[in-house]
Amino acid sequence: MVDAKSPLVLVADDDDTVRLLVRQALELDGFRVLEARDGRQALQLLDQRPADLLLADVEMPHLDGLSLCEEIRSDPRLRNIPILMMTGHDDAAAVERAFDAGATDFCQKPLQWTLLRHRVRFIQRSHRSAQELRRSRERLANAQRIARLGNWEIDLTTRELHCSDETLRIFGIEKGAPGSLREALVSCIDSRDLHALKEQARHAIETGAGFHMEYRIVRAGGAERVLRTEAKVAHDAYGAPMRLEGTSQDVTERRAAEAEIRYLAYHDSLTGLANRRNFRDTLSRAMLQSRRYGYKLAVVYLDLDNFTRINDTLGHDMGDLLLKGVAERVSRSVRLTDYVGRVGTEDVERNVARLGGDEFTLLVADMSQPGDAAHVANRLLRELGRPFDVQGHEIVVSASVGIAVYPDDSEDVDILLRCADTAMHHAKRKGKNLYQFYTESMNAEAFRRLVLETKLRKAIGRDQLILHYQPKIDARSGETTGMEALVRWQDPELGLIPPGDFIQVAEETGLIGNIDDWVLRTACAQAKRWLDAGLQPGRVAVNVSARHFGDPEWLTRVRDALTDSSLDGRFLELEITESMLMKDEQAAGESLEELRSMGISVAIDDFGTGYCSMRYLRQFHVSTLKVDRSFVQDVDAEDGAEIVNAILSLAQSLRLKTVAEGVETEEQRAYLRARQCDELQGYLISRPLTTEAMEGWLRDH
Ligand code: C2E
Ligand code: MG
Ligand code: MG
Repeated sequence: MVDAKSPLVLVADDDDTVRLLVRQALELDGFRVLEARDGRQALQLLDQRPADLLLADVEMPHLDGLSLCEEIRSDPRLRNIPILMMTGHDDAAAVERAFDAGATDFCQKPLQWTLLRHRVRFIQRSHRSAQELRRSRERLANAQRIARLGNWEIDLTTRELHCSDETLRIFGIEKGAPGSLREALVSCIDSRDLHALKEQARHAIETGAGFHMEYRIVRAGGAERVLRTEAKVAHDAYGAPMRLEGTSQDVTERRAAEAEIRYLAYHDSLTGLANRRNFRDTLSRAMLQSRRYGYKLAVVYLDLDNFTRINDTLGHDMGDLLLKGVAERVSRSVRLTDYVGRVGTEDVERNVARLGGDEFTLLVADMSQPGDAAHVANRLLRELGRPFDVQGHEIVVSASVGIAVYPDDSEDVDILLRCADTAMHHAKRKGKNLYQFYTESMNAEAFRRLVLETKLRKAIGRDQLILHYQPKIDARSGETTGMEALVRWQDPELGLIPPGDFIQVAEETGLIGNIDDWVLRTACAQAKRWLDAGLQPGRVAVNVSARHFGDPEWLTRVRDALTDSSLDGRFLELEITESMLMKDEQAAGESLEELRSMGISVAIDDFGTGYCSMRYLRQFHVSTLKVDRSFVQDVDAEDGAEIVNAILSLAQSLRLKTVAEGVETEEQRAYLRARQCDELQGYLISRPLTTEAMEGWLRDH
């Protein structure tokens, strides 16, 4: 059956009879047949539609069979058409010329019909498989191009190499370049990897095992690439190694991405310094070395002082810039430390780390004496002491540094780090901008603090906190104007613990939130009870920790404390410190406005010991200054009253009320009264009292 899908055969012959007979014979076999009288007509027909096979006579007018053949082979569209040439009998030269011109096969005239039909069918079949092979090669080449994967093989007898186009592309070698292909490829391979690659190949041929390896190449243009090769040996039927076959894949980008991921996993993204994990690795390696060679090493642990304040005041972007600047100085000071003779840039990168936040560590390897670490610490503090210029802002920072020595302090990476950390905290408590070597006693102290923290956590739930109240009186009339609520911790084993011993731990651990909450609620409830009992407690003052002042949630808790106790806000005062005002001007302003709307007044505690902008005092709704105890004590000394005088006149001109804290002597009382200080608080008037004692005081006064 002939239909539109049947293969199309074009018959070109100037002999009408031959064409007719060929048509009849082929149509019987299910071919479609087109006829051309000569070569030129054949070309015209092929220009309009492709044929699956051309059957052409050698001799034809206008364009003979051989020229037709050449024309077809030079046309990219027609190049692959199989051509069967019809030659005269015994014309060996014509056969030869036909093949030269690109003929696929030939048959002799006069034509034998059965043979012709077989030939045509056979050519058809092999043409189809050739086409399929071509397509699958194309697909393979495409896939290789996409995967940047080329294949190659080396004949082990002739040493000749064959490879796919993609292999050439990967190596940057022109197709058809002169010279040995194998040598061209080998010359691209990085000399550092060439030897190993050859060894692998040799071993594979010897043992028959496959291998895979990554190596670097340098392309003709100079670009470096990373290739991964997988290879195996092919054997002949008798088991002798015949070829080395393999693939090469360009994995440069993948390796670069992996390297990037590894870098990120081991570095701090802000400063580019090593991160904690990296530092731990470096430290444990350095410890092994130290053990082998018998020298010491030190971990220097650095933490910026008051970094949170800088972050809060200037914003996180500036904070980040500052940290970058600090990272540079830390690295620099290690580089500058001349005794560390063997420190190169690479070592600096590994030996200096940012553990997070404002904490940096550095490793002082191969020390001859602990003094070397002190030397580094000194240099660090000095380097950091110079002001930083962060986007035009001059920022001054200081740092606290702790040092722990291997193997003296510990032989364990984590414990050594913790020792350095402990020493750093110790330096911080001792006054900041200091360095401190770790000692055993610090551990004891750290342990004490840990115990304290654990106990304190429980104390809050077990009603072990109590409040004492210290009265404040009017300096002239002596009438009670209010009182300050002061927290104490009654521990069954440790006894009565003053706030100075646990407030800092509470602040560091966040427990202060619970404590201050409890104090606020207890003081409000107590004030309300006294009022209900017809007593006049005046304003009850509660101390506020810097941690939550300005926090909107804390304001809600203040409001709740008033609501739950039904206490009028007029009877509550909050004592804040100067630094809280400076922390975040806007938040502070809003908080103070909010507190005022609840009727609560605000006093600045320990006034004169911190830094406070005079502008803030006027602008913000602050009602009272509490002159710090240290200035009040100075009143007794000669020329000691100047600061008290200055504070009192400042307050008077800003129309702020004044309270003198820590009044202990009659002289102080007389002096303060003469200078129009409004209220007095101190042991001279009364020590802080228990709730019952305070109630007695209120009844008596
Ligand atoms: P502060 O707010 O300045 O409280 C005054 C401190 O001075 C109290 O110490 C008080 O007992 C003491 N004091 C009073 N009069 C005299 C005196 O004439 N001479 C001497 N030498 N001292 C006197 P305390 O109770 O040990 O409190 C210390 C600090 O602990 C307080 O200083 C305050 O900053 C903090 N604090 C106390 N209670 C709380 C609280 O409930 N929450 C928070 N966040 N901090 C609190
Ligand atoms: Mg106070
Ligand atoms: Mg005070």
